[in-house]
Amino acid sequence: MLPADAARTPVIVIDPGHDLRANPATEPIGPGSSTRKIKDGGGTHGVVSGLTEAELNLKVALRLRSLLEAAGVLVVMTRTRTAGTSVGNVARARIANEAGAALFLRIHADGSTDPSARGTHTLYPALRRGWTDDVYPASRRAATIVQSELVRALGFPDRGLQERSDFTGFNWADAPVILVEMGFMTNPTEDRLLATNAYQRRAAVGLCRGALRFLGRSRASCG
Ligand SMILES: [Zn+2]
Repeated sequence: MLPADAARTPVIVIDPGHDLRANPATEPIGPGSSTRKIKDGGGTHGVVSGLTEAELNLKVALRLRSLLEAAGVLVVMTRTRTAGTSVGNVARARIANEAGAALFLRIHADGSTDPSARGTHTLYPALRRGWTDDVYPASRRAATIVQSELVRALGFPDRGLQERSDFTGFNWADAPVILVEMGFMTNPTEDRLLATNAYQRRAAVGLCRGALRFLGRSRASCG
């Protein structure tokens, strides 16, 4: 690829949440903060499927990578295997920052002590001067677009958007950032569906459509 083309090609950093092992070490929740949080509690798992959240997140992420690359977007992954101790959220954000990401797209699935809890929601950073003011408007716009496409693709209940001030991976990001919770792995219906190839593809297509619309491109190239 010519340098001129490379300069025009947007980069999306895909962050499949968690990894094989949790990471109990702590890190500051934002630059210069004395408040620290655990790097990674490890995520949830499927009550019916037995799948770990880390595995599900990666399956969708790899499908999404293929779709975005086919649509002409450069993709950087924060991980491509589920094989080690989670690197934590500062490290994930740094990957997005160093890549100059047009969007830092974090893929998760939810868990609850209430097995009836279900649905899709998307989180984005709350406004905090010095931390997120540079990425707040774009993140909010990305969250709105991606949530609507993901809900349409999966057909799960729409739990809407949520602003978070306490997410380390948001506060360290210098790129527009969102975190999708595709569905609840603690809900038997959603877990069963999300464990199938068909629904993992639906999720990837929805995320691809949302990401491309956010970039101002046609969502049609996502299939
Ligand atoms: Zn998670």
